[in-house]
Amino acid sequence: MTVAAITADRLAAADAHYRGCRLCEHRCGVDRTAGERGPCKAGPVARVFRQRVEYGDERLIAPSHLFYLSGCDLRCVFCINELNAFDPRRGDELTPELFRAAVEAGRPLQPRTLQWVGGEPTIHLPAVLAAMAGCPDLPRVVWKTDLHGTPEAYDLLDGVVDLYLADFKFGNNGCGRRIGGVERYTDILSRNLRLVAGRTDLIIRHLLLPGHTECCYRPIVTWLAGHLPTVKFSLREGYLPHWQANHYQELGRPLSRREIESARRIAADAGLHLVS
Ligand code: SF4
Repeated sequence: MTVAAITADRLAAADAHYRGCRLCEHRCGVDRTAGERGPCKAGPVARVFRQRVEYGDERLIAPSHLFYLSGCDLRCVFCINELNAFDPRRGDELTPELFRAAVEAGRPLQPRTLQWVGGEPTIHLPAVLAAMAGCPDLPRVVWKTDLHGTPEAYDLLDGVVDLYLADFKFGNNGCGRRIGGVERYTDILSRNLRLVAGRTDLIIRHLLLPGHTECCYRPIVTWLAGHLPTVKFSLREGYLPHWQANHYQELGRPLSRREIESARRIAADAGLHLVS
């Protein structure tokens, strides 16, 4: 990551989204500075509801200093952080001063990376760029994203982010609508994956969901094998029912051993580059 890439022009272009927001594919165009709110409910202030150095991410990026921002453009019914993720009023305001102090406090733990997570950080991109602009000498920057942002948003991150940690959650638009709360999910994901894969390092994560092997997992693996066969693929097997998951028959239970073993076999048979 280079702070030099965060130019005054880039900051101004990012800031303009607060007055006509098209940071995510809801593209609602609201003036967040005037109190208008889109589906993410976010205003012009980003808030950090947690920040700390963690060790549980993929080995390529851990230990990582994570900055969790409240607010999200998706509504996954199995969200593990729903109170903070869906309420952008939670947490402390992200300012350059708060950010700098937190980064310095984390340095003794020697994080390999600095990671923006949510909720979804893309909906707060202007505030994040402003925070990092005042802080040279950062570790590699990881953008943990649902990849439901617009190309305009990802253009603003080009040259700033060292690695995208991108969730590929659903393998068809119906599941994206039913349990993710968004339309055209796979159309948007496949477009954005092609976009960011050509720009910088990328790890694609998939949280395996119970009962979604054939409708979601297999189509995702097939798409990756066909379009991004060498991409790093992180299969997450720790699903537990959270938030509204119990309202959906197939989601109200943990994964079975059989589902996990089958998923590993499908990825291996497809020749995907699994990372852990
Ligand atoms: S981030 Fe998305 S949902 Fe939120 S205001 Fe912007 S376009 Fe609308």
